[in-house]
Amino acid sequence: MPQTLTPLSSPLLDQVTDSPGGWTGLAATGEWAAEVRRLAAERNAVILAHNYEIPEIQDIADYTGDSLGLSRIAAETDAEVIVFCGVHFMAESAKILSPEKTVLIPDERAGCSLADSLTAEQLREWKAEHPDALVVSYVNTTADVKALTDVCCTSSNAVDVVASLPADREVLFGPDQFLGAHVRRETSRENMRIWAGECHVHAGISGPELARRAEANPDADLYIHPECGCANSALYLAGEGIVAPERVHMLSTGQMLDAAGSTGSGSVLVATEVGMLHQLRKAAPEIDFQPVNDRASCAYMKMITPAALLRALALGTDEVDVPADTADAARASLERMIAIGNPGSGE
Ligand code: SF4
Repeated sequence: MPQTLTPLSSPLLDQVTDSPGGWTGLAATGEWAAEVRRLAAERNAVILAHNYEIPEIQDIADYTGDSLGLSRIAAETDAEVIVFCGVHFMAESAKILSPEKTVLIPDERAGCSLADSLTAEQLREWKAEHPDALVVSYVNTTADVKALTDVCCTSSNAVDVVASLPADREVLFGPDQFLGAHVRRETSRENMRIWAGECHVHAGISGPELARRAEANPDADLYIHPECGCANSALYLAGEGIVAPERVHMLSTGQMLDAAGSTGSGSVLVATEVGMLHQLRKAAPEIDFQPVNDRASCAYMKMITPAALLRALALGTDEVDVPADTADAARASLERMIAIGNPGSGE
């Protein structure tokens, strides 16, 4: 990894220690918050936090949001340094859209099981087996995979993206099998091959668990992320009349926040990573938001600790770089998505 920034001193840096779960040793105290703000100002840095980060990181960030929304903010900001509190592919996307800026991730070990489930090598082989097919990739992919992709998609525009492609062209859709199944169902597209990847956190939110929670909370609305293992079950339950269809809302994280203010129900069961509850509860404090599975926590996202954020700002690391030719090809697949219309919001 490159290192283009000069380290800055900080009185708290001595307390930062490494551990298997990430950088540790600092609590999110007022002293920590003041030092983070001082370092960010000195670096002319903007702090972006994904909706799945711990509340303390979300609260100190300049902006919170979904992966693509944050990358767009990164491209528009005047800040020279972007500190992306999220996982690695998200910081890569910020770099792809802002190649002239320095992008830091507080812990470069923060990966993603979904992005890892389709490598560039695997996609190359898959394309070779289906040379006439068009490749549609969810934004939870590495820059190398995006560079081999015809059009990217997000959970909120995946249906529109696939529907926009010529009906006679085969489609290779990856890496998320649950989102792929949702798109196939919505578009009724037969000539679509779906990669069998998944996010271990979302896959762990199961259909039976959703059914049990929905039955125990008959008045609650259901907010379901289409990456969830329970996504198919939710539509099945609605289709069978077990859950009223109007209670089931398939939403990206950004759409969940938009919907929170206008939901007609006093309680909502949320099927996605538990970090999302912090922003939902802030957006609509009068509504009782509860997780479908309170163990659905992404250990990668939680590697962005108070200690990791302070260390990144002070030492100017871990820097995320994407080679120019990869970034150009990856950017083209993102721009094709945006040209289709609804730019959507990612995870
Ligand atoms: S919740 Fe799943 S898809 Fe999201 S960053 Fe974590 S492992 Fe990846």
